[in-house]
Amino acid sequence: MRLALPRKYVKRLWRTIIEFELLSEGDRVLVGFSGGKDSSFLLYALRVLQETAPFGFELGAIHVDLGFEEPSDDQLLEEYGHQLGIPLYLEKTQIAQVAFEERTENPCSSCAYFRRAVINQTAVTQGYNKVALAHHHDDAVETFLMSLLYSGKLQTFLPKSHLDQSGLTVIRPLVYLREAEIAQLIKSLSFMPMPSRCPLQGKTHRWKVKTLIRDLTRENRFVYTNLAAAMRRDGVVELWPPLPSREELRQKHLHIMRPRPAAAEEKCSANEPRGRQ
Ligand code: SF4
Repeated sequence: MRLALPRKYVKRLWRTIIEFELLSEGDRVLVGFSGGKDSSFLLYALRVLQETAPFGFELGAIHVDLGFEEPSDDQLLEEYGHQLGIPLYLEKTQIAQVAFEERTENPCSSCAYFRRAVINQTAVTQGYNKVALAHHHDDAVETFLMSLLYSGKLQTFLPKSHLDQSGLTVIRPLVYLREAEIAQLIKSLSFMPMPSRCPLQGKTHRWKVKTLIRDLTRENRFVYTNLAAAMRRDGVVELWPPLPSREELRQKHLHIMRPRPAAAEEKCSANEPRGRQ
């Protein structure tokens, strides 16, 4: 497979790697590889950067078969790993069954949790120090709005985060690339991404939020960029203070409702009986 990427992709990837300090000499990076377009692109892109990087780093890939009715296409995945010259770990699991049994309304959180656990465990046992995930800019913006709408939290995932328990660092080198750019590039590669096996495809909260952002952005082209700007910590933040405890509220009540000394005196003298005139 010929390894090449258009300049604008390479520039954006390096910008991300430098800004967030994602890679350094001697890193061993395990890439989460679902077989879809985003993770296929990430694997390819990191392989391209590896060729020209001024420092050395190693790559591996892991595919977690979630155990849906139709199994993953192992042959297709292995072939892609082979073409890129990247070792591939295939992990067969029953995560789908567990997630769908546990939380029939929204199994995604359990599914994602267990999948991450398998990836991290493999990274540790195989001696990798970093895990690379294929979340792009649209994912970050969607997660930001999803968290607000469904969890009441103003947050999204970070380009780089450290996991205290495992000692791993999770990196997301695609956060400055838009989903449409990735889709466009992956079409030019000979690899056909593996269709998702999940029956919830197109029915999740993420999908609803994605559609909402897309529709609103069609009406007003600033909607997406405004959301993206709000994700930054240095954006204008005007939020209410935290909800006070009962005790804090009681203290405020005592403070505000206590009569001022001057006013109390006035009240006393006003109440004194007046002498006869
Ligand atoms: S959409 Fe399907 S594969 Fe993705 S997290 Fe949800 S249950 Fe898992």
